[in-house]
Amino acid sequence: MNPSDITLPDDLRPADGRFGSGPSKVRPEALVALVAAAPTYLGTSHRQSAVRSVVGRLRAGMAELFALPEGYEVVFGNGGAAYFWDAAVFSLIERRSQHLSFGNFSESFAAMVANAPHLASPDIISSAAGTHPEPKPWPDIDTYALTHNETSTGVAMEVVRPVLVDEGLVLVDATSAAGGMRVDPNQFDCYYFSPQKGFGSDGGLWIALCSPAALDRVDRIVATGRWIPESLSLATAIENARLDQTYNTPGLATLFLMADQTDWILGNGGLEWAASRCETSTSILYGWAEKSDFATPFVADHADRSPVVATIDFDEAIDATKISKALRANGILDTEPYRRLGRNQLRVAVYPSVDPDDVTILTGAIDHVVGALA
Ligand SMILES: *Cc1c(COP(=O)(O)O)cnc(C)c1O
Repeated sequence: MNPSDITLPDDLRPADGRFGSGPSKVRPEALVALVAAAPTYLGTSHRQSAVRSVVGRLRAGMAELFALPEGYEVVFGNGGAAYFWDAAVFSLIERRSQHLSFGNFSESFAAMVANAPHLASPDIISSAAGTHPEPKPWPDIDTYALTHNETSTGVAMEVVRPVLVDEGLVLVDATSAAGGMRVDPNQFDCYYFSPQKGFGSDGGLWIALCSPAALDRVDRIVATGRWIPESLSLATAIENARLDQTYNTPGLATLFLMADQTDWILGNGGLEWAASRCETSTSILYGWAEKSDFATPFVADHADRSPVVATIDFDEAIDATKISKALRANGILDTEPYRRLGRNQLRVAVYPSVDPDDVTILTGAIDHVVGALA
């Protein structure tokens, strides 16, 4: 049967069909709020109070959501998490970094550092797709690069400092983890992410929660006279953030939707609430796959299974591409696997915006499609 000819019955259609890993579901209520605010917000100067108060609200919301200790600062810049990697190459890594590489995102950051002419060759510790390596503290390493959730494979790891504070900065790529996973801010120096994943907003911005040690490092590198492109300078970003601004014009809708999502999470009980909601959703998926005759969770070790992005392998008798095609034809979007992983797989993101009831319906929809394809 042609996958796009499969029609799901009404009771197997989620209320919202967006399960993408990023951009991810934007809550309709957030858009309604944006439209209501638009006449005095969209199309107005980002140097005036209407926009600066949203940035201020967002900075305060981040500090509350992550329970940031005294001295930590919330910094913003344009470009998203991938640009933050470049910013880290210039403003955070002093001489040599260590990278845990276990999927496309962590690998990309390591490769950028390896190409930087002003840095020593990084120490890259890799592990097979579906697992994660452990850091190996070493005296000549000044920066440890961890990834809280590898979005390409659906592997998560706990954020734990590999060395004592002052023995090396801990940078955590939390792009798909932030807002949906618990974290102790004492365990990181920089926890950075983009708005279009757990924060259900749009792309183009990076946010970094920076410890006093990270802020000191930025100043110390500036003092060495290293050439730093202005748009990638964290010193410039920090200076602007303190004034509730960004160096150049940000996406105003992005900022608004992210602030709205942060308030929504806080209003429901904060990070603990959001993390539990995501765990409920992924348990539905992993539990269903474990019971299924044709599906299995890709990540073998339970402790490494992501609570926000579930990767599910399918029996080779079933072509997972056809499943995602049939789902797409029925309005269930972006369940395709990370393309370069090359597995017979579906990848389902269940950030806080996703309703766990929709996840239960999705598992029923997949069963239906597999039956119809057989
Ligand atoms: C999506 C993602 C990125 C890249 O984010 P952009 O906003 O596209 O720059 C980096 N790291 C991880 C873990 C991601 O999931």
